[in-house]
Amino acid sequence: MKIAVLKERAAGETRVAATPETVKKFIGLGNEVAVEKGAGASASITDEAYGEAGAVLGDAAGCVKGADIVLGVQAPDVALLSGAKPGAWVAALFDPFQQNDRVEAYAKAGLEALSMEFMPRITRAQSMDVLSSQSNLAGYKAVLATADEYGRAFPMMMTAAGTVQAARCFVMGVGVAGLQAIATAKRLGAQVSATDVRPETAEQITSLGAKAIFAEGLEAAGEGGYAAELTDEQKAKQAELVSEHIAKQDLVITTALIPGRKAPVLVTDAQIATMKPGSVIFDLAVAQGGNVEGSKPDEVVVKHGVKIMGYSNTPAHLPADASALFARNHFNFLSAFWDKEAGAPMLDEEIGDAIRLTKGGEVVNARLKG
Ligand code: NAD
Repeated sequence: MKIAVLKERAAGETRVAATPETVKKFIGLGNEVAVEKGAGASASITDEAYGEAGAVLGDAAGCVKGADIVLGVQAPDVALLSGAKPGAWVAALFDPFQQNDRVEAYAKAGLEALSMEFMPRITRAQSMDVLSSQSNLAGYKAVLATADEYGRAFPMMMTAAGTVQAARCFVMGVGVAGLQAIATAKRLGAQVSATDVRPETAEQITSLGAKAIFAEGLEAAGEGGYAAELTDEQKAKQAELVSEHIAKQDLVITTALIPGRKAPVLVTDAQIATMKPGSVIFDLAVAQGGNVEGSKPDEVVVKHGVKIMGYSNTPAHLPADASALFARNHFNFLSAFWDKEAGAPMLDEEIGDAIRLTKGGEVVNARLKG
């Protein structure tokens, strides 16, 4: 089979979908791997390193020509894929709920779009899950970026000139990113508290040495480990809890997402106004509509003396590690289904149906049709 890896073209995207390590492994399965020249440059991977791993380097059209599988971080524009084999697979992030036109274009082109963000949250798919691998890095980076904007130190310091108080950090949303944010803020010496709407996270928060802040009756666990949207009554309860707690915080990291919906607003302008000047809020959901009123992607907005920030693509701020993990997720996914006799991957129903968006000229995914 021929596997093609293109240079990412989306603005601000620094990651690449394969590394020399995974190129070598794909070749080990009997494939030919074509990598577009310069594809790894932003992730500090040279063309020579891909070449040494056995990849054939070329321009985009040359790489795609006759390809059976195209790997991407973000799905490439369909116009780039006209030379691929009919029915070729494209595995990447498709942002399927927002980018309907792109999904339709893939269907029309007769390509099989495999949406890596639709990977089911089941144990055997953990090593294939790009949302987890990238969120983990994003949670870490959010805390470092916050520390950089904060005009004070994180840990308590007792010096001859007096004591510096530890920063108080509140993490809202304790999934993969939130847990890493808690761990990172703790390591830097902050006093950390955290909240979520899934009750099982309370134990995870305390096991990291942080304080769990929960309101009674505020439970909204959805399907597959995801949260559900809060009712109006629950929203009011959460607002009360946040209002009480946030005024005493120096740093807030928000990570709350609900699949297929705009991110919930967790921090209002009125609540920001109660925080001390110089406090910093990092909104990890800013690209999905934002958890914080007034946050703007890739800007530091100052409101009531509080800095509000968030990146449109946080993992892209750690391109080398983010690429390494993304590339392994792709390899773990395809190799798990490798049929040696056919020399090709054969997806099973559970994972295939979950991630396949288009096939045979149609949009076939139940989540999109529903
Ligand atoms: P996510 O990115 O969908 O959401 C981030 C967090 O925000 C979640 O913890 C969610 O409960 C929380 N949240 C949503 N609405 C909120 C609100 N109004 N207020 C406060 N918090 C709110 O979640 P995620 O990081 O992908 O992970 C969720 C869970 O799924 C975790 O327990 C994780 O370990 C699990 N998971 C399992 C697998 C697997 O088994 N393959 C893969 C990924 C995640």
